[in-house]
Amino acid sequence: MYWKRFWANKEMPVSRDAQRRALPALRCASRLTSTVNGTMKILVANLGSTSFKYRLFDMTTEAVLARGGIERIGSSQSPCFVESGGQREEAIVEARDHAAAVRLCLEQLADPKRRCLRDPSELSAIGFKAVHAQGLSGVQRVDERVLAAMEAYADVAPAHNPPYVRAMRLLSQELPHIPLVAAFETGFHETIPAAQRYYAVPREWADKYGIFKHGFHGASHRYIAERAAQLLDKPGAKIISCHLGGSSSLCAIRGGQSQACSLGMSPQSGLPHNNRVGEFDPFALPALMRATGKTLEQLLDDLANRSGLLGLSGHNDLRDIETEANKGGSQARQALEVFVAAVRHYLGAYLLLLNGADVIVFTGGIGENSARMRQAICADLDWFGIHLDRVKNDNAKGEMAIHSSQSRVQLWIMPTNEELIVARQAKALLSGGRESSA
Ligand code: ADP
Repeated sequence: MYWKRFWANKEMPVSRDAQRRALPALRCASRLTSTVNGTMKILVANLGSTSFKYRLFDMTTEAVLARGGIERIGSSQSPCFVESGGQREEAIVEARDHAAAVRLCLEQLADPKRRCLRDPSELSAIGFKAVHAQGLSGVQRVDERVLAAMEAYADVAPAHNPPYVRAMRLLSQELPHIPLVAAFETGFHETIPAAQRYYAVPREWADKYGIFKHGFHGASHRYIAERAAQLLDKPGAKIISCHLGGSSSLCAIRGGQSQACSLGMSPQSGLPHNNRVGEFDPFALPALMRATGKTLEQLLDDLANRSGLLGLSGHNDLRDIETEANKGGSQARQALEVFVAAVRHYLGAYLLLLNGADVIVFTGGIGENSARMRQAICADLDWFGIHLDRVKNDNAKGEMAIHSSQSRVQLWIMPTNEELIVARQAKALLSGGRESSA
């Protein structure tokens, strides 16, 4: 293993010794307790197919000690950043795979100038915002059983499961004494009642094969459930959480519990996503196979990688679609309309399901940043007691209310904090909480 770092664009080769310094410390006696010297430092990893984002928490206080990320994993020029103690550093590194990226991150965190970790053995756990596993949910200590269950759903969550399994396998081999904890996105949705859970298919598909609406984005919706109830000072609050980003979903929440989620059996369902399809009629597939000559696998790949907003508009990123629509692009405008209509479809359904809402929360990259989308989603809903304040909406940043004084339903923007939820779940598991939902 040989990493080169290019801090401040200057090539500064790192010695093999320095690269490996992190590892021997990890090969210490097996850790049976959850704290190390009275602290509990948990690294939370959020993996994309070619990216790795992390936050390091001191879970005795829930303080964020550092955050960072690496993009374009697999290339020889991977941009990375690390922020700690109010300082941000950016660099171009070589990260061959996710395990290399995590090791590089551990090295950065253990760098004496940052003092986030004395050495990597100080970590109590690495927590993962894991997505989907066959027959498993909740919070699980990663072992062969968990990895096999995730591998079994590699084609159900193709953008998510393969990179997670790869990284977890490499890490459990190379860092065997750091517990790995998978907090599954589906866990928050175990409270969804039967009426919102089942597809109308032969019942044994659900009972024998797990074909039902699992729901995802659980860490985000759980955070919003807790934070909104706290802000409203109402533990039983009726909340509609709108996580709109690269992946998008709505969740109906009552009393802190998920009652319905727009994501179903797989993360390709529900609302249109950046490049994944959302709701789709499976009987279009045989017609498409005949018309295009493509195989089922090829069409599933189109649905998982070349559909959603990208399929409709030709652009992956909502900012580009908005820019194109502003220039008069009709496909871009229609893509935005389809997205807004889908959000309103679930919003209406969840207002009925909850018999009204105390608050509608917007989060995720689009939910937090696109005033245009929020305005379109909330347009003409005065009969429902929903009134957006245009000025507040246009100038909103961070966590704030954006409803007008006459609005019966509160409207908020809230940056989600999925990593904190995962860190709390990992802490609970390490502190002796039971693994949930096998
Ligand atoms: P992920 O689901 O992958 O975590 P994010 O929550 O980061 O994704 O959301 C990414 C989406 O947020 C992208 O489509 C991006 O265009 C959109 N986004 C980010 N900033 C803005 C902005 N200022 N205006 C509109 N959309 C934005």
